[in-house]
Amino acid sequence: MLKTSENTLDPSDWQAFRTQGQQMLDDMLGYLEHLREQPVWQPIPQEVRDLFRQPLNGEPLDLAAAHDVFMNKILPYAVGNAHPGFMGWVHGGGTPVGMLAEMLAAGLNANLGGRDQIPVEVERQVVQWVRNLFGFPDTSSGLFVTGTSMANLISVLIARTAALGGSVRQRGIASGQRLAAYTSACAHISIAQAMDIAGIGTDALRMIPVNGQHQMDVEALERVIADDRRAGMMPFFIAGTAGTVDVGAIDHLDTIAEIARREKTWFHVDGAYGALAMLAGDIAPRLKGIERADSIAFDFHKWGQAPYDAGFVLVRDGALHYNTFASPAAYLKRETRGMAAGSPWPCDFGPDLSRGFRALKAWFTIKVYGPEKLGQVISNTCALAQYMKQRIEASPALELLAPVALNIVCFRYRCKDADRINADIVVALQESGITAPSSTAIDGHFAIRAAIVNHRTNMSDIDALINATTKFGEMIATHKQTS
Ligand SMILES: *Cc1c(COP(=O)(O)O)cnc(C)c1O
Repeated sequence: MLKTSENTLDPSDWQAFRTQGQQMLDDMLGYLEHLREQPVWQPIPQEVRDLFRQPLNGEPLDLAAAHDVFMNKILPYAVGNAHPGFMGWVHGGGTPVGMLAEMLAAGLNANLGGRDQIPVEVERQVVQWVRNLFGFPDTSSGLFVTGTSMANLISVLIARTAALGGSVRQRGIASGQRLAAYTSACAHISIAQAMDIAGIGTDALRMIPVNGQHQMDVEALERVIADDRRAGMMPFFIAGTAGTVDVGAIDHLDTIAEIARREKTWFHVDGAYGALAMLAGDIAPRLKGIERADSIAFDFHKWGQAPYDAGFVLVRDGALHYNTFASPAAYLKRETRGMAAGSPWPCDFGPDLSRGFRALKAWFTIKVYGPEKLGQVISNTCALAQYMKQRIEASPALELLAPVALNIVCFRYRCKDADRINADIVVALQESGITAPSSTAIDGHFAIRAAIVNHRTNMSDIDALINATTKFGEMIATHKQTS
């Protein structure tokens, strides 16, 4: 049992605790060093699941025993996104540096809601780096949040304030104010959720059709806006996407920026993973127009490789951002000296008061690896996607289902009853532990979807996915025909 000193939760024997802590650190670094030797994912045995459904019995568990549970019952049954063979969904791989930064942040236990402390200055420094990356003015504001879902919501709320004025915060949205928002049919569902949570409603979100490259059809956008104006609606928000979640398409951001300017609406970019391609010299030019956005939502935890969670929202009009969220409260009173100095605080720019020190893992990741190396990782995942595309095109058994613009490849095994068989192939691949793609629907067809986000993924992992898909495809297709 962990012996604690009489009145606190600290250990009474720091030396023994230190030894245990070093063991935990060592085990975790060992896990990262030897990731490749492990399955990407494995099905969870029922007895392991049952372990986590037991009620609390009140008996304290020794720290070493709790760590043992972690190593044997938790770690092996995570989704596996740290593994180089993981290509399911758009998940970042994390880094050992990010992991250590998380440990430091947890030890310090800083609350980043506000007050005069250097951790807040660290967050402000990262905000400044992000401004510079996107060419935003010094008067713009930025905030770490959980993820792009929250960043999209914050952006919708600020755009609502811009459209209806600050009094909307007291009065709410009156029924006569018929706001309308626009995004592409391939946009992430979190935009619709943001409309829902903001009280505007998903019916007010127009899903604009896409072209053959899965980009928003900008002419359709203009038509729908014009129709809405004729019908007495108030267009207030257009969200372009830099890197769609299904195929990795980048909308024509420059054209959308132009339309938003002309229509006097807010221009938001959902760049959840794609926006950080600004770090990659070969891809950044394709994001042209992002520098004109009113707000950008993105994640350090995807292509930025920071550990979960580390979302970010950047807002051009910092004063409007502040005016959308800042609230007076006596216990949050600001001073010019002492610990309550340094206003405005991060809590003035979003719904969270208590906030973790997410900025530290981003700061460590950027400082220790450097922006150039992080950009190279992004370029490399895109090059791997092109390699995978070539392998698919060279394989008669496989078929590419969508253009490969960035780092996402959608394909399938060619066969009769392709939707059902490819669904079985994805499950078989995941259960094999060799590789882990996910799936999506492309033009109504089931697609195997490989999102290459992890910095650890290399050509051998692409080969493993292609070879295993062909092998399982053959097995499943012949089995289905004979049975
Ligand atoms: C992942 C993703 C989101 C959601 O981001 P979270 O960090 O998971 O909240 C939104 N939009 C796009 C395009 C994404 O890829």
